[in-house]
Amino acid sequence: MLKKGFIFLFVMILCCGVLPISAKDSGTYVPCDTRLWVDNQLVQTDTGFVTQNGSLLVPVKIVEEMGASFQWSSEDWMIQISSENKRLTMYMKNYQCANGAKVEKMPAQPTVFQGTAMIPLRYVAENLGHFVLWSGKDVYVSTTGEFQLITETNEEKPDVQPSKSLMKKTVVIDPGHGGSDPGAVSGKINEKDLNLQVAKILKDLLDQKGMTVYMTRSEDRYVGLHQRAEFANNLKADLFVSIHHNASPNTAAQGVMTLFYPTSNNQKMNGRRFAEIVQRNMVEELKTRDWGIIARPNLVVTRRTKMPAVIAELGFMTNKAELDRLVTYEFQKQAAEALYKSVLEALQN
Ligand SMILES: [Zn+2]
Repeated sequence: MLKKGFIFLFVMILCCGVLPISAKDSGTYVPCDTRLWVDNQLVQTDTGFVTQNGSLLVPVKIVEEMGASFQWSSEDWMIQISSENKRLTMYMKNYQCANGAKVEKMPAQPTVFQGTAMIPLRYVAENLGHFVLWSGKDVYVSTTGEFQLITETNEEKPDVQPSKSLMKKTVVIDPGHGGSDPGAVSGKINEKDLNLQVAKILKDLLDQKGMTVYMTRSEDRYVGLHQRAEFANNLKADLFVSIHHNASPNTAAQGVMTLFYPTSNNQKMNGRRFAEIVQRNMVEELKTRDWGIIARPNLVVTRRTKMPAVIAELGFMTNKAELDRLVTYEFQKQAAEALYKSVLEALQN
């Protein structure tokens, strides 16, 4: 009984805690008028949504729309979300999530809002293998990787957000590998992590320029190659930049190369021309050996994407001296800057 009383009190504290006093207080829950779409269906909820630390939380029941089930135990404040090959266990007011055998930090803490258990949407959806896209007051979850933005289909939307046609260019950044696929491995260093670090710096640079930037993954998770290409195609992205690091049996090999898909398309900007720009900027910025641009007809992400696309190989993890450099923030920032310059140059052409 004592426990029940305690839980009731806890609910009261939580409910009071969600009142929007100041969005700046870290950890405060703020109600928001976001509209949520799952596979192009508007999700109706009595509760509405809240954000914490800028992350959207939604009623846990929404996982059912994403092909998962859940158990919510108000006794021990635990939520368990299960799909065919995932199990996520999280607790109220706790950033930690047991994701299979791993414990991860989520961007926001589950909470109870108006009597409903709320979970961080992006973290959960992406872990269930879905894509999340945020545009103005609309958040889209796609279980297939295909998005249909309502700005394109629904004229009557009175919104202060610029229409899709007025937005600036769209760039998709593709940090190679992730999750169960580490890419090249050297000692404790995995290529997937280096790729993601550079990708995040590049995203910040492009965001600051007002471009619309998406990443095929923004955390350590597995994403299929076809899924990456489809993601960019569905967004009708203007450019696709895949970030990788190299490995070679020749441990003396150092330097940068840019891979592209050879096409007969002779538009002003195509894979080859974009690759030339990227390679030139990387050599200039990183002052390293120039392996040139290389036509590769069989790589999925450059072959299947419909926009100019490159794979930038930033250096050889199999070379000791180069690896020492690749792991530094200085190098990663320089690499991101070289790619940033290349994107601007390609878009202006
Ligand atoms: Zn790779």
